[in-house]
Amino acid sequence: MGADLTVTSELITSCKVTYLDSPAAGRLAILTLDNGADHRKPNTFGTQGLASLRAAVEEVGALSDVKGVLLTGKPFVFAAGADLGAFEGMDEAGAREAARRGHEVFGRLRDLPCPTLAAVNGVCLGGGLELALSCDYRTLSASAAGVAFPEVFLSIVPAWGGTQLAPRVAGFGNALTVIVGNPLNNNRVLRAAQAAQLGLADRLLPATDFFEASLATLEGLVTGRVPLPAREPSSDGLDEALATARRAADDRVHGATRAPYVAIDLIEFAVRGGDLAEGLRREEEALAELLPARQAQAAVYSFGLTQQRVKRQPWRPAAAPRRISKVGIVGAGLMGAQLGALFLQRFEVPLVLTDIDAGVLAQARRHIDAELDQRVARGRLRSGKADHLKSLVTTSTDVADHAGADFVLEAVAEDLELKQRIFGDLEAVVGAGCILATNTSGLSVTDMAAGLTHPDRVVGFHFFNPVAILPLVEVVPTRATSDEALATAFAAATTLRKSAVPCADTPGFVVNRLLTRFMGSCGQAVNQGSEFADVDDAIKELGLPMGPFELLGLVGPAVAAHVARTLHLAYPDRFVLDANFQMLGSSGLPGVYDWSKGRVVYQEVTERWQVAAAGGQRMTAAEVRDSAVEAVADEIVAMLDEGVVADARDIDTCLLLGAGWPFFLGGICKYLDQTGVSKKRFGRSLVGVTDRAVARPEPGLPVGR
Ligand code: NAD
Repeated sequence: MGADLTVTSELITSCKVTYLDSPAAGRLAILTLDNGADHRKPNTFGTQGLASLRAAVEEVGALSDVKGVLLTGKPFVFAAGADLGAFEGMDEAGAREAARRGHEVFGRLRDLPCPTLAAVNGVCLGGGLELALSCDYRTLSASAAGVAFPEVFLSIVPAWGGTQLAPRVAGFGNALTVIVGNPLNNNRVLRAAQAAQLGLADRLLPATDFFEASLATLEGLVTGRVPLPAREPSSDGLDEALATARRAADDRVHGATRAPYVAIDLIEFAVRGGDLAEGLRREEEALAELLPARQAQAAVYSFGLTQQRVKRQPWRPAAAPRRISKVGIVGAGLMGAQLGALFLQRFEVPLVLTDIDAGVLAQARRHIDAELDQRVARGRLRSGKADHLKSLVTTSTDVADHAGADFVLEAVAEDLELKQRIFGDLEAVVGAGCILATNTSGLSVTDMAAGLTHPDRVVGFHFFNPVAILPLVEVVPTRATSDEALATAFAAATTLRKSAVPCADTPGFVVNRLLTRFMGSCGQAVNQGSEFADVDDAIKELGLPMGPFELLGLVGPAVAAHVARTLHLAYPDRFVLDANFQMLGSSGLPGVYDWSKGRVVYQEVTERWQVAAAGGQRMTAAEVRDSAVEAVADEIVAMLDEGVVADARDIDTCLLLGAGWPFFLGGICKYLDQTGVSKKRFGRSLVGVTDRAVARPEPGLPVGR
């Protein structure tokens, strides 16, 4: 999801000007953006950064002998756009002024009388891309790590000219893709070649002599040897493309944030021949509307959680992690196969996959091979490297093959006794220091470790399906877990490029506990006579990409029913054991809907799902939503009281990264605060007030049971 960068408002990006006398082209000005920090802290534009750029452009503009301007960034980074820290709490006037200030500076750059070239040498996001689009010509380094307009993902719009310039430079189809489609598609970031293909750069150049080649291009522009590309955007097919984009926005956000619709309107204005100055003024109005709104403020909060807070990892012990030279995975089913592919590619060490079913093992191997082959086909992995990785995999039905492993993760069926037996068998074959991890969705990790000689080596390590897409791993220490085991789990999550959120060993941990409570409320609505599809649609209006019954098809009713049972046993008052759900869980059906026929409910479900006979009253869409949200709020307060996480913000991080809840809901705690639900129900807000550091559960303290 997006580029992995730390954006900090403490750093000021300055724009340095140097001059160069070219024998062919005369005097050239080189403008270099640099905030003085390494590549992990990209150049961003706050007020002072913009002022520095403005001063540089003014200086160059005042010199009549400057024949061309090249604008570039610091190593690996061109610019990552506006400083998001400054957006927090911004009001309408502030937002309008922020947009206007950018327009003013970028406008000066566009008005320079000589050719301007953006040499995009690295990461180029948001306002950075708008800056590049404000130049006459763009070269792009083939090694640039990411090009994108993430604004719509953050519930705002590009408002430094992006919506007006991108369609003029790259055409409306590409502009719609980059400004609206990609942000709504998990905030997809383009690699350099893809960005060039979409017309965001005029020349894609090798990284090796990128600067020299860019300079030569600028000389060519000055002397006329390189012609400025003709930009005559066509509007053929515009109506259809706009209709498709609006439908896609509906499918994704269901009207819950205005940002994608406003962006589409702005692009339409540009393509229908709208005046540039008026288009820019409309961008200012758009930002003034969107930035102070609940959605953008929640998104800025979410960005801070996922980019900064999650890296701090509360409860991470100081102990050194164990070095991992061999990995084992037990259970090669749906999760095991995906986990195998992930561990193999990130650790690049021998991997043993075991299962009782040889057919499942063969299928898991095919899955891993296919994933590697696909990366080769996409040019992301050399075929020699793929062959090497494949050679590191052993599949076996014999648990003894885990001998010598440093880290074994079990992903067998959700059954406590089975998992206890597996851990016992493993302990008999692995060395004393081997960490045993469990991918359980909700069983007690403590109970799982109870019979072991070394329960201190056990830690919960809970991933989310699809593993390649959802970045969360819930790290669950028991009261016995050693510091080394916990430190190893955190370090492993980092190696796997996953975001670790630690939580106490309580049933369902964070995501499944909340989703189950949420689901329970939605199930009640169906029990009272609502249609599955109506409940899904009502919930999607919150802005969730999927309704609860659609999601059930992804999780699998058996797993969901099992988690529901576990939670019911732990908290019978709040988690009702719903006979309909249990029926579904044991039905063998993949979900409620038969997708081969569209969103049609299986006949078996229709026949067997018991609807309240008398007194049951169909809920309205608003009632369905409100009661689901209130159920979640109620559960969150219980979780905070129990100390399941160190802070309410960690619950939000879990929902953002493990359940794919949109940034504009801010996970959920932020939404509950913003909409007054938490105040109304609990007399306090969840984020902030609950900002107390909850210590990792100590041995002997009862937690959640
Ligand atoms: P699955 O049924 O697809 O795979 C389980 C595998 O375990 C099967 O291949 C089975 O043959 C194997 N197995 C059973 N007994 C075994 C034994 N004694 N030794 C070795 N292998 C054995 O299940 P799954 O969906 O991959 O779930 C696995 C675990 O991951 C469960 O604990 C589940 O709760 C958890 N999980 C599932 C999801 C999900 O979305 N499905 C998400 C996160 C966590």
